[in-house]
Amino acid sequence: MNTKFLHLTSRPTPESATVRQLSKFVQPINENTFCLVILNYFLTDPKLYALPVINIMNIPVGLIDRHLFVEYFSRLYVPEIYGKRTVMQFLTENLATFTDTTPIIVDESTCIDDAAKMIVSAGMQHMVTGIIITRDGEYLGLASGHDLLNEITLRKQSDLYFLAHFDHLTGLPNRMLFGDRLMQACRDSLRNETLVGLMFIDVDRFKQVNDSLGHGVGDILLCAIAARLKTCARESDTVARLGGDEFAILMENLTDYEFPKIVALRIVESMQDQVIISGHSLSITVSIGIAIYPTDDTDVTVLLTKADTAMYEAKSRGRNGFCNYSPNLLMYNSEKMSLETELKNAVKNNEFVLHYQPKISLNDGQVIGVEALIRWQHPTRGLLSPIHFIPLAEENGVIVEIGNWVFREACNQHRRWTDAALPATNMAINVSSLQFRKEGFVESLKVIFSDTGVNPNFIEIELTESTLMHNEAGILEKLNQLKEIGLRLSIDDFGTGYSNLNYLKQFPIDSIKIDQSFIRDIDTTPVNESIVRAIVTLANSLSMTSIAEGTESDSELEVVKRCLCDVAQGYHYAKPLAPQDFIQWLGTFQSNSMKDTDQLLLT
Ligand code: C2E
Ligand code: MG
Ligand code: MG
Repeated sequence: MNTKFLHLTSRPTPESATVRQLSKFVQPINENTFCLVILNYFLTDPKLYALPVINIMNIPVGLIDRHLFVEYFSRLYVPEIYGKRTVMQFLTENLATFTDTTPIIVDESTCIDDAAKMIVSAGMQHMVTGIIITRDGEYLGLASGHDLLNEITLRKQSDLYFLAHFDHLTGLPNRMLFGDRLMQACRDSLRNETLVGLMFIDVDRFKQVNDSLGHGVGDILLCAIAARLKTCARESDTVARLGGDEFAILMENLTDYEFPKIVALRIVESMQDQVIISGHSLSITVSIGIAIYPTDDTDVTVLLTKADTAMYEAKSRGRNGFCNYSPNLLMYNSEKMSLETELKNAVKNNEFVLHYQPKISLNDGQVIGVEALIRWQHPTRGLLSPIHFIPLAEENGVIVEIGNWVFREACNQHRRWTDAALPATNMAINVSSLQFRKEGFVESLKVIFSDTGVNPNFIEIELTESTLMHNEAGILEKLNQLKEIGLRLSIDDFGTGYSNLNYLKQFPIDSIKIDQSFIRDIDTTPVNESIVRAIVTLANSLSMTSIAEGTESDSELEVVKRCLCDVAQGYHYAKPLAPQDFIQWLGTFQSNSMKDTDQLLLT
């Protein structure tokens, strides 16, 4: 019976119809008078919580009580009887407990899930007895309620297990299962004297994709990333999604430290092909942090934090790469809650500072401006880079307040430098999407200009591609208003978001900042050089200035120059510097370039 039940496949016949069909079989036609009594009882009293079983000849042969799971059969069916008591005994004992519940009768074609749904929605009472299976209203057999209960329980258990241990979107193990496996792997590793590699992977700028193209696209992208990660790991490694855009890989039984690096490189490379979703061609990169058990820590929780720290380091080194944990990295506890509260107070407590990184013209070697970059002078964690808090601030909206502070402070600094008779430099300020889209943004800038007396012609706003890609009316209007005030506009991290370049023609943009992922290793990666050349040509044709972000080495600078980039910015010249350090740097830089010029004149 159970087997038959499990093979049921399609939707049930409406219950009421089946009950009606059954009633037509009730005729006082045979010697089983007790059955007749019961059947009459059943049919005349809708409250009776029992159901007759009718044989293939339309003869009532038994009764099932769904309340107590007692079945009564006529003599013919005695061998199949589960219940042991007589009908009268049963009726006398239980009539009072019958409840007003419609019996469940399912057609043979009913699938188990539908039957389960009916039972669950009927309050599970029917679980304790059984289900009558009929075909065209004829009794075919019984499905034991207990079997069904077991089946439902098993399914529920496996559903619950899946829900509790796997990520619904990607099907990968979730944080909980990953944690269990990590613990187990660490225990095994001690026994086997092997290493465990732990890798944290965060998708760079995922929020921008989600914000501008919608969660649907974001979800598909996460699935695509999950698939790529799986191809980079071994079959025996656990690739998990920890939540949001965070993934992790657990590598067990390692015997050398190099393996996680190889996998990390493989992952970075595997992300190079664009992902095409709903007509959007997306470039994705990831930042990876690696920690090794037991070398980096023997406490699993601390090990996780260390991999996280290494991941943030990879991000602050320009994203699209990996970093191994090392003790000199500033420990960052990603405990969001406390950070969030602290972040909200940070503006009030005046804990933010701006550092300034110069931009150098490649035509004449002069400093043409600086970019203001925020840092958080955290009371206990030290100086935090924006990668640690800007995403959170964007998530909870505090970015608007922080952004206002940055703008005012950068203008104040500009004022102080001008007052100190320093050569007037352009000041570039990063503006996040939320801040830009906020109503009253343009007006708030006007207030700052009037308060500080700074000439807007010296101020440049850096916006990311995704800010401009927002499908919102009014973006062009806002950009035009900013241009009217006299501000310059530039696109930050160009090339990382979208290949749709239409917006470039439409918007009044002054410069393009080529993302540092294209500048990194440009001297050894010909494809990067080709991309940079193409972007420079594009910028020229649209009369925009091209800026190479993240220029680090001499040879990178050589290639950047060869590509005819207009401006370079990066550690090659200077890291972002505190205001007083910047002034010192500027003095040295200018006197060196004077010497270089003199040298040039002499030769
Ligand atoms: P960004 O605007 O693209 O800034 C460039 C980032 O690259 C800065 O990181 C800078 O320190 C780093 N960098 C510059 N040259 C080099 C180099 O040669 N090599 C490497 N590896 N890195 C280099 P930082 O200061 O950590 O800022 C990260 C991002 O945080 C910024 O990227 C920007 O998107 C955001 N950010 C910074 N300050 C602000 C702000 O005031 N407001 C907003 N909304 N975002 C900000
Ligand atoms: Mg920037
Ligand atoms: Mg940038």
